[in-house]
Amino acid sequence: MKARRALVCGAGGFIGSHMVRRLRAEGYWVRGADLKYPEFSPSAAHEFLIADLCRRESWQAILDEDMDEVYQFAADMGGAGYIFTGDNDAQVMHNSAIINLHAVEFAVQRRVKKIFYSSSACIYPAYHQEDPDNPNCAEETAYPAAPDSEYGWEKLFSERLYFAFARNCGLDVRVARFHNVFGPEGTWCGGKEKAPAALIRKIAEQEDGGTIEVWGDGRQTRSFLYIDECIEAVRRLMESSFTGPVNIGSEEMVTINRMAAMIMKIAGKKIAIRNIPGPTGVRGRNSDNRLLRRELGWEPTQSLFEGLAKTYPWIEAQVNAALQRTEEAAVAD
Ligand code: NAD
Repeated sequence: MKARRALVCGAGGFIGSHMVRRLRAEGYWVRGADLKYPEFSPSAAHEFLIADLCRRESWQAILDEDMDEVYQFAADMGGAGYIFTGDNDAQVMHNSAIINLHAVEFAVQRRVKKIFYSSSACIYPAYHQEDPDNPNCAEETAYPAAPDSEYGWEKLFSERLYFAFARNCGLDVRVARFHNVFGPEGTWCGGKEKAPAALIRKIAEQEDGGTIEVWGDGRQTRSFLYIDECIEAVRRLMESSFTGPVNIGSEEMVTINRMAAMIMKIAGKKIAIRNIPGPTGVRGRNSDNRLLRRELGWEPTQSLFEGLAKTYPWIEAQVNAALQRTEEAAVAD
């Protein structure tokens, strides 16, 4: 039997590179496309094209008539330090929207059988996320729309774009709203990292008995999903007949300071937290997995602690390698 063929857009990024690995393990023929190769290990793709997906020519090159599935993860994105400061709004909206406009147009033109789009929990209205203990992120609460970032507005626009192409052009789409995915080989420094990676890095860099800074009052709540669970959920959605939009996240909500305490336990260090002003986004957010359970008959099962325990050694190794490079550079000077 002929292997199924998949195109993974954003294959040089965190979720995309893990998806490439998974599809290969399932026997797919995989093409990856991104502005860059994966940072931390070679891509598992059969073919990897360096391409700027904001450009039409790139889509002409990466999407042929023979592609069964497209996974569209490419986006201009980052953690709170990137998307909530306002400094990158124009770029985030423009680049991600144009990538998705090309994606749907070329998917129809090249008769792609099925396309997955990665939306985000950031589409949910800020007014349902003001109470850190009782956020409401059920799928149907997305409207009246009031995301708290331009990143969220672009995601909401693009969700609608995919469904419009489904209705009018027969495109077979799957749309999921990811809630804070983390794990090994995710961005861990440089300003685009998210809370779990930032906290793990700070704790790995700190001596026992030291202090770390945490943005906000630390009582803001979130849930975090381990990467393997995210990949499993996307594959199950693609194999199902349910189009979404559906949350893909964890329902284990924690305060940011509580997550820092979990990481300290894993690290075996006692470290003080100094909460400082910084970009934090909404007060509370948690995945609501009722629809996921109903439609896919499945939900994530790994605890946050387990996921953090798998991620800590990987980031600690990155921290130590960076430290060694700095020391070697100082000796060379
Ligand atoms: P990532 O930043 O690691 O990956 C995105 C990739 O897109 C990067 O490799 C980047 O180079 C690529 N890209 C950006 N602009 C491009 C362009 N013009 N041409 C080609 N490639 C381009 O992010 P991720 O964490 O892997 O997220 C994947 C998707 O899931 C994104 O759409 C993101 O918005 C969405 N999402 C992620 C999370 C999360 O917690 N990681 C949460 C919600 C939604």
